[in-house]
Amino acid sequence: MTRVRTLEHIADVRRRPGVQRPVVRTFPAEVFGPIGTSSATVPPDGEIALDGTLEATGLDIVLTGVATAPWEGECRRCLRPVTGTIEVDLQEIFSNHPVEGETWPVDNDSIDLGPVLHDAVLLTLPLVPLCADDCAGPDPERFPTRVEGSDAPDDDADDAPAAPAGDPRWAALDDLRFD
Ligand SMILES: [Zn+2]
Repeated sequence: MTRVRTLEHIADVRRRPGVQRPVVRTFPAEVFGPIGTSSATVPPDGEIALDGTLEATGLDIVLTGVATAPWEGECRRCLRPVTGTIEVDLQEIFSNHPVEGETWPVDNDSIDLGPVLHDAVLLTLPLVPLCADDCAGPDPERFPTRVEGSDAPDDDADDAPAAPAGDPRWAALDDLRFD
């Protein structure tokens, strides 16, 4: 039954090709089932919102808009709880003859926004949630934001020539040149 709640009727859109008809809807996140990765999840009591338009183009229906969803997770460095909101730009095509992975189905003059929003939100969840961009972790000594000396070009420059003699990659080049 949950899928029914994400259906959008489009008979009126079909009757007026080329006209953008607003589609503004809000769904309880639980309607979509669990949406999450090992890094972040959409809380089931949150809401996923769609603010967009539908337009008939030829035989297809084009959905353009923005979806927003809350997420929660743990900071990758200090493991403190982190929450946020993602915004996803949508440009999706619905077709009577959908192509797997490219277009979505039209069924009886309605489209199902559920799988579209589910996938779009899932793919946009942060892979590396941070409580702050410069979070130093629970122990700054263990998780320095910058490895000491890593960006000092003068370090070790004399001891480590960039292309030591005998490097097989250069040998191959020599063969090419003097063949
Ligand atoms: Zn943190």
